[in-house]
Amino acid sequence: MRIDLHTHSRVSDGTDSPTELMHKARAAGLDVIALCDHDTFAGLGEAKHAAADAGVEFVPGIEISCMYLGVSVHLLGYGVGAHAGLEAELEQVRRSRSERLPRMLANLEAAGLPVTMAEVLAVSRDTPAIGRPHVADAMVARGYVATRDEAFSHWLAEGRPVYVGRYGMDLETGIRYVKQAGGAAVIAHPWSRQSKAVLTAGVLEEFAGIGLDGVEVDHPDHSVEVRQQLRPIAIKAGLLMTGSSDHHGLGKLHNDLGCETTDPRTFALLRTRFDADRAVLG
Ligand code: AMP
Ligand code: FE
Ligand code: FE
Ligand code: ZN
Repeated sequence: MRIDLHTHSRVSDGTDSPTELMHKARAAGLDVIALCDHDTFAGLGEAKHAAADAGVEFVPGIEISCMYLGVSVHLLGYGVGAHAGLEAELEQVRRSRSERLPRMLANLEAAGLPVTMAEVLAVSRDTPAIGRPHVADAMVARGYVATRDEAFSHWLAEGRPVYVGRYGMDLETGIRYVKQAGGAAVIAHPWSRQSKAVLTAGVLEEFAGIGLDGVEVDHPDHSVEVRQQLRPIAIKAGLLMTGSSDHHGLGKLHNDLGCETTDPRTFALLRTRFDADRAVLG
């Protein structure tokens, strides 16, 4: 059993349609795949149908843009049902994503790298959650940079000249809402970038106490050392430890489908924490 619990489609910042992604999952030898587009459920209905065609088990998911102590943290929700409070928060995140675009385009202009809103909308056409990767794609299309990665490291990453922040949902509220909505809550790549400093052992234990189900330990952004440090903390807190590729199609270079996977026993436990049949599918 090969299980990949975190992937993206063009409905956020991946480069495959949900249908293409499910067929690629089967071709990559996966038995189970979760689609976790950023801040939207919009691709899940299409993905579920395509997964049935492709013969792969589908897990409906979402990756919610959260904030904790001023640091960006991504929260995965699996089998998340309807919840008005959560939907209102997601709407606010998506609105904030769109509202920051003019400021990012002004920063690009000031840097001598003009990109128009029409160009960003042309590359982000399938998503209600426009992100920096789409701005990066527009920069690639202009020939300013060769890859998304280069766009981020020179211009779009935090601290770089074009960066503009956006709203993120309070992490604790996110966990509570996902649980109230009947879903399972797993913190994505908890110790990538700045989040290692704020997601301490004590904090993870506290979140386990309010319902957090797991942490994504095996992730391309986590070094061997980070994984070794994180495991005993997760075990002590009673958190499940998942593994996933965080596949973004051609948008990320070290995230091939199934490059990291979740142990089948862990998945069996996780699946008891949500009801995929009650999940919102778009
Ligand atoms: P946003 O949420 O719009 O601020 O953008 C964050 C997204 O950018 C994350 O979901 C990542 O998938 C993506 N990202 C961050 N760094 C890079 C990078 N170096 N190359 C490609 N994508 C990246
Ligand atoms: Fe992404
Ligand atoms: Fe993420
Ligand atoms: Zn992701």
